[in-house]
Order: sequence, then C-alpha cells, then structure tokens
Amino acid sequence: MAAGGAGMARELTRLTAAEIAAAVAAGDVSAVEVAQAHLDRIVAVDPDVRAFLHVAGIGALAAAEDVDRKRAAGEPLGPLAGVPLALKDVMTTTDMPTTCGSKILDGWRPPYDATVTRRLRDAGVVILGKTNMDEFAMGSSTENSAYGPSHNPWDLTRIPGGSSGGSSAAVAAYEAPLAIGTDTGGSIRQPAAVCGIVGMKPTYGGSSRYGLVAFASSLDTPGPLARTVLDAALLHEVMSGHDPRDSTSVDAPVPPVVAAARHADVSGLRVGVVTEFSGGGYQSGVRARFTEAVELLESLGAKVVEVSCPHFSYALPAYYLIAPSECSSNLARFDAMRFGLRAGDDGTRSADEVMSLTREAGFGAEVKRRIMLGTYALSSGYYDAYYGKAQQVRTLITRDFDAAFEQVDVLVSPTTPTTAFPIGERADDPMAMYLADLFTIPSDLAGNAAISVPCGLAPEDGLPVGLQIMAPALADDRSYRVAAAVEAALQERWGGPLLAQAGELGEQAGGGR
Ligand code: GLN
Repeated sequence: MAAGGAGMARELTRLTAAEIAAAVAAGDVSAVEVAQAHLDRIVAVDPDVRAFLHVAGIGALAAAEDVDRKRAAGEPLGPLAGVPLALKDVMTTTDMPTTCGSKILDGWRPPYDATVTRRLRDAGVVILGKTNMDEFAMGSSTENSAYGPSHNPWDLTRIPGGSSGGSSAAVAAYEAPLAIGTDTGGSIRQPAAVCGIVGMKPTYGGSSRYGLVAFASSLDTPGPLARTVLDAALLHEVMSGHDPRDSTSVDAPVPPVVAAARHADVSGLRVGVVTEFSGGGYQSGVRARFTEAVELLESLGAKVVEVSCPHFSYALPAYYLIAPSECSSNLARFDAMRFGLRAGDDGTRSADEVMSLTREAGFGAEVKRRIMLGTYALSSGYYDAYYGKAQQVRTLITRDFDAAFEQVDVLVSPTTPTTAFPIGERADDPMAMYLADLFTIPSDLAGNAAISVPCGLAPEDGLPVGLQIMAPALADDRSYRVAAAVEAALQERWGGPLLAQAGELGEQAGGGR
C-alpha cells in the first residue's frame, strides 16, 4: 500500500485486529506501517490518556520488521502476525521494565518472559509497550498506580476502570487494537465495561500464570481486551493453552472460542438472570440497558429464566478475605534483596531494617491495607474464623454455579453496578471502590469463564454499560457465542460499534486532566 500520510495512519488505527492481520498477510500494508501508525497515535493521545507506563518503539518496529521479513520469505504467519498489542505491566518482559504499577519494582528488569509474553512474540504479535495498572492489580480505577491514573477516553476526567485500566484505555483510545489484562476479581471485565470494549476472563488455568507477577494465585487469570468479540477470541486462542510451567494450568484443549465468535446464534440457548443481582442498589441507566439486553436475547431466540444463586451475596466479603490473604503471602517476596527498590541501605542498617524501610517506601496505601488484612485473616486464632470461613463460602458459590448451569447454559448480569466514575470520587473510600466488582467476583471465586460486551450507553451520563455473560469452566466458547450475537444485533441497531459514539480525543468538551 502506498504511504498515504496522516489520514491513512489514522485509518490503520481504526482497523480491527482481524482486519490488520488479513491486510498484513495479503501484503496490502506492512507490519511496520501498522506499528508506526499506532506509535504515532500513542504520541498524539497518550499525554492525555496515560495508558502506557513504557512505550517500546524500537522493539515494536523490530518485531514488525520480522513479520514483514517472514512474509516476504513466504514463511507461514500466525493469525495475529503484525497486530499491535498493549501489555499490562504485570506480565514479565526481558526487554522492558515490569513495575506492576509499584515503586517497589522501580528499575527491575525481569530475567525471563512470561509464557503469555512469549506466546505473543512467537505468534508475531507486535508488543507496543506496558500499560498502567493499579499497584499489583489491587483496585478498580488505576488510581492506586504509583505512576498516577490513566484516563477514560470517553471522558478524560473519569476512571478507565482497573486494575487493567491502562489496557482498556489504550484499546478504547485506538492506541492498540488488542491488550492483555489480568482478572483476579474483575480487572479485565470491569475496565472493558466502563471503556465500552470487550474483555474476557478465561476459565482459571486456561491461560498461564507463569511470569504473571502474583496477586492472589488461586484467582489470577490473564485474558484479552479488544474492540470486537472476534478480536478478543483471536487473542484468547493465541495466548492460551496448557503450560507445564504453571502447576494450575489446565491440560486440555483451548475451547473453540474463535469458531464461537463467528457463530453468533443464540436460538434455543437457555439464559439465566441471577435473581440476587437484579435487586436494587445500582445505577438506573445500567439497569435499563441490562434489561434491554435481556429482551434482545429473548428476541434472538434465547429462553430467558430467572435463577437464584443465594450465596452470591457473600462473594464480595469472601473475596476480600481470600485475595488479601494470598497477597500477604505473595508480596512477602519483595524483601529489598531480590527485586527493584532498596531503601536506607547505607551500610549501617541490618537486612531487617532495610527490608522494613523498603516496604514502607515502596508499597502504596492500598497494598499495605491488603497485606495487613491478609496477615490478620491468616494469623493463628483467626485463620478458621476468617480465611477458613471464606473458603467455605467460596465452595458454596461454586455449588450455586453448578446448580445454575444445570438449568441454563449461561448466566447474565450487568458487568458493573455503575458507569465510569470521576477520578478522585472513590479514592478515599475503599469500600465504595470494592463495590465496583460486585458482579464480577463470583466467576473468579468459582474459576469459570465470563466476558463483558458493550450493551449501550447509560442515558443519564452517556457512558458505556457492559453486559456480563458467565459460562461454566472450560465452556469459554459459550460466552463468546452469546457475546457475538449481542454485538451483531446491537451494532445493527447502532449502525456501527458503540465506540464510534465516543467523541474524538482532543475535541472533548471539558476534556483534559
Ligand atoms: N478490584 C478488585 C481488587 O481490587 C479486583 C482486582 C483484580 O481483578 N485484579 O482486588
């Protein structure tokens, strides 16, 4: 393709991952041109969006050149070869820093690539850089990042969700067609929902945790963010699959998610609406869009029933015992000796003093809160009452899902109780922040699959609302099938993707920081 200047570069950033891969494979555009267009877009809009902590321009262009060289040599290209991607800064990379949004990892260069990183590179995906996140993935807004918040491209004064908020903002701002996030309590689906894009939490163990810096190991799951359901599925397939380096990795074939994303048909499918999630207490516009989405599924031939999951009401408290407990243990490794920051090491202090000063200086307030909560919940005398009890509740929630999936094929709910809230609104109110994950946490506790797909704008604020589609473990394809049907029907109604209704960055009234 002849170089067409700024207009053409803009067009390249509007393409889907599937379109880019096809154009690169056909030789209509080079991977280098695609990478450059996205790097230019980052230069233009990231000073406002602040999605990236690190941009790897030279590395991205080198990876793109490699794809172009392979194509010219007639070597086979993977399904996403030449497609740019934004990587959450919690996945290790040998050629880029990995900070997890924390000062404590400042200056650390991992000696190895995460399995997800490696699979992306092997597939010819072009990694543009590392995205901002709440420190160690604890949060729902990116405000807990030690490097400042990212901004929602729909309204720069609002949060892009979290903890994978840099990833969701990058995709929604057309800085990358694809991003990797991680979901422990909702951190892929919630940012996707509030940015008007697609985010999928695969079945626990379906995507490798090797090289994902651990927050809560029994919950952490990497997954895709994208602007379309098909793009998310393409990335899901490339990044997933059994990994002998992760002891909880599932040794089973990746569910046929790409085929499912192309099979947008829900006729005869049984869809359950969770009774416990249809009560009051959340934003009216979110409720209105959710109700419409359920009616839409019915009009497409799905059979909708109400299903009770009585223990879902206890998911949030159980999560806030289990996740901090695991975090207090996982974050003990940041001891000032092995990674990143070392504070107060002037030759007079003991190792214990240096460790204590380093952890005091290196961890932010929310991380310290979680470590204290978790250490308390695990301490002798309290273990049974807190951690033990929470694990029992976790089992009851899994059984609720098992019973529900005997009656229905998928469960649906809004992804989040509200649309994107203003930056600063919940910063001093941890409980209000925790509520952002009310609907996403049950699927993490049970380890099953769940996707968020845009289902419209809330009339009161004009901001995106997400529909969550939960499926049984290893039935990830079912979430994609329903999401693809919803996407197709709604895009017909809207005359295009929801994101097309967002204002152009730089032209937003009242935009800016
Ligand atoms: N917001 C939740 C928390 O702060 C979930 C975070 C996540 O999924 N990583 O723990």
